[in-house]
Amino acid sequence: MDCIFCKIISGDIPSTKVYEDEHVYAFKDINPEAPVHVLIVPKEHIESVAHLDATHHSLIGHIHLIAKQIAEDAGIDQSGYRLLTNIGKDGGQSVLHLHYHLLGGRLLKWPPG
Ligand code: C5P
Repeated sequence: MDCIFCKIISGDIPSTKVYEDEHVYAFKDINPEAPVHVLIVPKEHIESVAHLDATHHSLIGHIHLIAKQIAEDAGIDQSGYRLLTNIGKDGGQSVLHLHYHLLGGRLLKWPPG
């Protein structure tokens, strides 16, 4: 499958790994928008939240707990951070493999553009 995140997960494209287990891979965004910018990605190729079904319940909960741990490890859990996923064209999704952005280390603006 011609998916850039599948290639990162398999190691065919290099990345700076932050976390890995059987189901999830997390790495530093190549174009960081904040001092901490990590992408948390399921190893299963799921296009987006719009493609989730009931079999993904535990995976999505697992990703949230990993995000919490990564934020703690990065030392931003007290100051706060943002966890988000873009969905489809209007949502600004450019890579069609489900991923959660963990952003922090600076004051983040709201609303996004
Ligand atoms: O939510 P969206 O699909 O736009 O996010 C994709 C993210 O993947 C971007 O922040 C981009 O910098 C990142 N990326 C990356 N390494 C790549 C290709 C894209 O970290 N090789």
